Amino acid sequence: MYMHSRPWLCYWIIHSIALLGDCLDDKLENDVVDFLERCQDPNGGYGGGPGQLPSLIISFRMHDGGEIDVRACYTAISVASALNILDDRLIQNVGDYILSCQTHEGGISGEPGTEAHGGYTFCGLAAMVLINEVNRLDLPGLVNWVVFRQGVECGFQGRTNKLVDGCYSFWQGGVAAIIQRLHLIVNEQLGLPNAFKDDLSIDCEHDSTNSDLSEGERYSEATTSFKNDTCENSQEGEQGFEDGSSGKYNASPPTGVNNTGYNFIKGPVGMRPLFNSMALQQYILLCSQEQAGFRDKPGKRRDHYHTCYVLSGLSICQYSGVKDADSPPLPRDILGPYSNLLEPVHPLYNIILDRYYEAHEFFARS
Ligand SMILES: [Zn+2]
Repeated sequence: MYMHSRPWLCYWIIHSIALLGDCLDDKLENDVVDFLERCQDPNGGYGGGPGQLPSLIISFRMHDGGEIDVRACYTAISVASALNILDDRLIQNVGDYILSCQTHEGGISGEPGTEAHGGYTFCGLAAMVLINEVNRLDLPGLVNWVVFRQGVECGFQGRTNKLVDGCYSFWQGGVAAIIQRLHLIVNEQLGLPNAFKDDLSIDCEHDSTNSDLSEGERYSEATTSFKNDTCENSQEGEQGFEDGSSGKYNASPPTGVNNTGYNFIKGPVGMRPLFNSMALQQYILLCSQEQAGFRDKPGKRRDHYHTCYVLSGLSICQYSGVKDADSPPLPRDILGPYSNLLEPVHPLYNIILDRYYEAHEFFARS
């Protein structure tokens, strides 16, 4: 059944191992690189296996002649961002398309006119952050949608009135983790620009060079270009939400988008978790876990896809209380012994944070 997603299998398995703090031995690692090379098409893209059609990139279609959806947008944008090759041409109209997929419920669907869904909401939100256009989304609406997706069983459901499923621990938990770093924009859209003033003044009070600036300006100065870029336009965006139109955003083309992922993770976390982290950890460890591996729910069988995304969601839970990405969580935030602690991930890419830093440094140089 996985014949068309063999590179995915590599990612699911290797990422799961990395989350557990381990890595492949050199021989296996070389074999994987070798295999992935054989999946690459002469025209550049990667197929689901050696000799298969390359999928996505360039056209944002899942494959040549295939469907266009939010998933394809995200995959192209996140890969380009990680490789430091994101540019204005690649970004063109992506924001308009994703905006057209935000539904009346607040979540994001795969295509315009379809139902909001956890996987697409993650993809759409993360892509909008990476292209510096996240302020165009109705973020309070999106928050309102995602906070009601955690079910009485403590896991997340993917859509309204669906059963909970372990993999949404990451898709929905990842959305919550991203929102935690968008507090400034959420607040502006809610008309509460100074709600995090106290957090801010801690960052700024020792910085005498900013003494002539207002509180808001000092905040912008103290935070990253990501925050500056996104907040500048939020007032215009605010008026465009009712009808979901995209015409309100008149900013010049985004600049420095290749650093957005880095600035995002280095920026402060200004919001408490939007979900019950302990409850989700209970669902993961007590319901999703099998003897070895993870599953959708009791009664289903474990698989590599669920093992990868349930573990990713567990990591998101464990780090949901930290104030900055490079700090370890407190023992009280970890269900079970502290040895349950996984490696942290970059929530926009779902890559182990240290591996992300290495890649960022490498591709920024090349
Ligand atoms: Zn699932």
